[in-house]
Amino acid sequence: MLGSMMTQNLLISDLIEHAGKYHADTEIVSRETSGAMSTTNWRDVAADSRRLASALGTLGLGMGDRVATLAWNNHRHLKIWFAVSGGGMICHTLNPRLFPEQFIFICNDAADKAMFFDKTFMPLIVGTRAHLKTVEHFIYMGAHDEEVAAAVPGVLFFDDLIETGDVGYEWPELSEETPCSLCYTSGTTGHPKGVLYNNRSTMLHTFSISLPDALSLSSRETILPVVPMFHANAWGIPYAAAMTGAKLVMPGPGLDGDSLLGLIDEQKVTLALGVPTIWMMLLASAEKSGSTMPSLRRNVIGGSAAAPSMIATFRDAYDCETIHAWGMTETSPLGTANQIKGKHADLDVDALAELRLGQGRPPFGIDIRIVDEDGVALPHDGKTEGALQCRGHWVVDTYFGNEDSTLTQDGWFDTGDVSTIDVDGFMVIRDRTKDIIKSGGEWISSVDLEGIAVSHPGVAMAAAIGAKHPKWDERPIIVAVKADGANPSEEDIIAMFEGKIAKWQTPDAVVFTGAIPLNGTGKMLKNKLREQFGNTLIERGL
Ligand code: ADP
Repeated sequence: MLGSMMTQNLLISDLIEHAGKYHADTEIVSRETSGAMSTTNWRDVAADSRRLASALGTLGLGMGDRVATLAWNNHRHLKIWFAVSGGGMICHTLNPRLFPEQFIFICNDAADKAMFFDKTFMPLIVGTRAHLKTVEHFIYMGAHDEEVAAAVPGVLFFDDLIETGDVGYEWPELSEETPCSLCYTSGTTGHPKGVLYNNRSTMLHTFSISLPDALSLSSRETILPVVPMFHANAWGIPYAAAMTGAKLVMPGPGLDGDSLLGLIDEQKVTLALGVPTIWMMLLASAEKSGSTMPSLRRNVIGGSAAAPSMIATFRDAYDCETIHAWGMTETSPLGTANQIKGKHADLDVDALAELRLGQGRPPFGIDIRIVDEDGVALPHDGKTEGALQCRGHWVVDTYFGNEDSTLTQDGWFDTGDVSTIDVDGFMVIRDRTKDIIKSGGEWISSVDLEGIAVSHPGVAMAAAIGAKHPKWDERPIIVAVKADGANPSEEDIIAMFEGKIAKWQTPDAVVFTGAIPLNGTGKMLKNKLREQFGNTLIERGL
C-alpha cells in the first residue's frame, strides 16, 4: 500500500452538522409568515433538522421519497431542507406562483409524498388537494392552528411534529450520488421539467459558489437571500451559508421594497441576492426613505439581465458593489459570476464599469462555450455571438423522469441563451434564443435595448420585443411601464437610444402599458407581450 487518504462522501448532512458545531451561535433571523420576527441560530437549526428527519422517518418517509415545500424563505423551510436531504429523501421546492394546473402537474409528476406549506398557501392546497394524487401528509409550517385544521383535514403541524423527533438522530451514511433535491424549470413554454440534484453536485456547487471569485462568502457576512428557496434553490445560499457559517436573514413573505429595506438596515445585511425586479422596488423605497443602506456592501443580481443603470445606481448612490451572475435551474444554478481579475486592477473607471456589466466568468467546476447552428465551437473573442453551452459537476444530464440525456452528443448542455465570451471567459448574455429580435436577418439584443430604455428615469420597467414587420420580418419595439408620477412620451424614450446604439437597431415604437406580465420567478413573459403587442407596427401602418 502506498498510503491513502480518508474517504468521506460529500453529504448535505455534514453541512448542517458543521454549521451547528462551529457556528453554533450565529443567528438565523426570519420574518415569519405572520409578519413577526424570530431569531434562532445554527445550533438550533441543526438540532431541529435532526429532530425533523427522525420524525419524518416515523411518518413512514424514507430514501428517495419526494417531500415538497410550498413556502417562503424562513427558518422552518431551512430545517426542512437539511432534514429531508440529510435524511436521504428529496426536497422538492414548489413555486407557489405557478398556475394551479401547472402546480398540480408538477406535484403529480414528482409524485410528492408529503407537502409542507406556509399559511399563505393554504388556499392553494385547499383548491388543488383533490388533484394531488400522491400526497399522503400535509404539514403546516407553524404551531397548531384551528383554522388550518378545519380547512385541511388530517393536517399535521410542524411545531408538534418536531417535538416527536429524536435530537440524537444520526444521519444516514449515504452515497454521495443520492438525490437530495428537485426543482422544476419555470416552463414559460411547454411543461416544466424537473432537475434532480444530488448530494455530490450540491456540495461541489456549494464549495464553488463560496469562493472569492464567485460569491465570496464567509462567516463575516450577513446574507439576505431575497431570491426564494423555490427559485433554483435560492441560488445555493442556504447550503453555502451553512458551509461558511454566515448569518442568514430570511425575508419570509415581505418581498416589497419597504420590508426589504427595513431588514437590511435593522439586521445590517452585508450581502443580498435577488432578481432585477426586486432591486427596482428596493431602490425606489431607499430613495423615498433617504436610507443609504450603509451596511450593504454587495448585492448579487441574476435571473435576468441587470440594467447598466441599476448597477451604476448601486455603486454610486449606495456604495454597493453588484456581482452580476448567470445561471439556470439546470446548473444548480451558478454558471458564472462577475468578479474582476488581478490584471484588471488598474483599469480606468469606465473600462472597469463596462467589464462588470456582463455576467462574468465560470468558477472551477463549470465550463462554458459558444457554438454556431451546426454545433461548431466559436472563438472566445468577446465579439462573436453564439449559442451558450456548458458542462460541469453541477449541470443537469437527464431531466426528472426522462430516459434520455438532454446533452449534446459531445456532452454539453445547451442553455437556450445567446452570448459572447472573451479570452478570459467573461461571458455576456445577449439574449435568450427565443427572444432575440431578428430584423432583416440581423440580430438585435433585447437586453441592450431594455438597458437603455430603463435608464430613462420615467421608465419603471421595459421589455424589448420583435414586432411583426412586412419588410424586415421583425422590428424592435419597447413595451414600457411608466414610473410612479412620471409621464415620458414615446419620443423621449426613443431619444435615449441616440448615440448608444446603431440607428438600424433603434426601436421603431414605444407602447405604454400598466404592467408587464412576469413569470413565477420574476422574468418578463415576452411571449405574452408578443401576443399582445406583436402587431403594433402593422396596426400603425408602418
Ligand atoms: P427558466 O429557464 O425556467 O426561466 P431559470 O430560472 O432556470 O428558469 O432561468 C434561466 C435563464 O435565466 C437563463 O437561461 C437566462 O436566459 C436567464 N438568466 C439568468 N441569469 C441571467 C443574467 N444575469 N442575465 C441575463 N439572463 C439571465
